[in-house]
Amino acid sequence: MKEWFERERAVHIQFYRRQPVVFVKGEGCYLYDVEGKKYLDMVAGIAAATLGHCHPKFIARVSEQLKKLVHVSNLYYTTPQIELAEKLREITGMDRFFFCNSGAEAVEASLKIARKATGRKKFVAFSGSFHGRTMGALSVTWKEKFRRPFEPLVQPVEFAEFNSVEDLEKKVDEETAAVILEPVQGEAGVYPATKEFINELFRLRDEYNFLVIFDEVQTGFGRTGRWFAKEHYGVKPDIMAMAKAMGSGFPIGGVGVSEEVAEKLEAGEHASTFGGNPLACVASLATIEIIEEEKLVENSEKTGKYLRKRLEELDGIKEVRGMGLMIGAKVENAPGMVSRSLEKGLLVNATSENALRFVPPLIAGREEIDFAVDILSSLK
Ligand SMILES: *Cc1c(COP(=O)(O)O)cnc(C)c1O
Repeated sequence: MKEWFERERAVHIQFYRRQPVVFVKGEGCYLYDVEGKKYLDMVAGIAAATLGHCHPKFIARVSEQLKKLVHVSNLYYTTPQIELAEKLREITGMDRFFFCNSGAEAVEASLKIARKATGRKKFVAFSGSFHGRTMGALSVTWKEKFRRPFEPLVQPVEFAEFNSVEDLEKKVDEETAAVILEPVQGEAGVYPATKEFINELFRLRDEYNFLVIFDEVQTGFGRTGRWFAKEHYGVKPDIMAMAKAMGSGFPIGGVGVSEEVAEKLEAGEHASTFGGNPLACVASLATIEIIEEEKLVENSEKTGKYLRKRLEELDGIKEVRGMGLMIGAKVENAPGMVSRSLEKGLLVNATSENALRFVPPLIAGREEIDFAVDILSSLK
């Protein structure tokens, strides 16, 4: 594999600190490297490959569309885009949709929509937040290390402490266009919002008339044991951003808004060349249908509970957080555990020095969890 690492170093901008492995093939919850070694995948392309790798029905649907029509632009109507929006209305409870190609783009569109719909400028985001790397999404992302070299960013943005009702009350006012948050913070290491915090957020929304943007890019499509994490709180945001698992690894993102918000938006105010192309929409439709057929939302909750229980029993794990198959664990040396797991054929992800993140394909069952936990418990 060394030769591939050297070739990469010669031609790639060195933005990524990659794990030392080159993948060529996947099947279900497993990946294979160039030398044929097999790995259990508890990362799923960062909570994206929900159906696992190379799901036969997914392949069939997408290849059928590939032979029919890939792209024509939003100058015209195409059938899969309309069908996808209808399906999303059913599973998200949002009213109208816009399609793009990634999470950051979905957040960008959400911020623009919030400004247009309210006529206000200010955004409130939270400590620990992650919303993407484009200029707008970066502006509401917490880590200073990510933001600093690229300033000036979109302003005004105020950061409030995540899950602090008191701080939230101080930061929102009549100038606030929108509050943006992840109902379960992913990149921060898997931290769910409390019910009290979400309730207070919606009470303040009604008081000050700002919009609430839920960034469900990582939590959407069954990840937390519900179709969308908002269901755990029984609320309807004004704007919802989605991506990652939306096409089970095929790039597609989207924004859902309420009817009231949609009414304030006009032709020409936002667009995307590739957004909502027939191929991506069929990948997403196939993903949603297979999740339904195979009851993967239910499996996410059930297998997630089992993973939690097994992790809680493990020596060296100090805390387990999360919902469904989106689990974070506090450990001593997360990057070290990631490297040693890799050697033993297990992919897990570290979000920081002391947090492991588990976001396996939603098809994972007890067998995969046992295999993963056995490897973790064998690490010295
Ligand atoms: C990954 C992620 C994004 C950014 O998505 P990209 O597709 O990488 O641009 C935005 N918000 C959240 C919550 C994410 O987890």
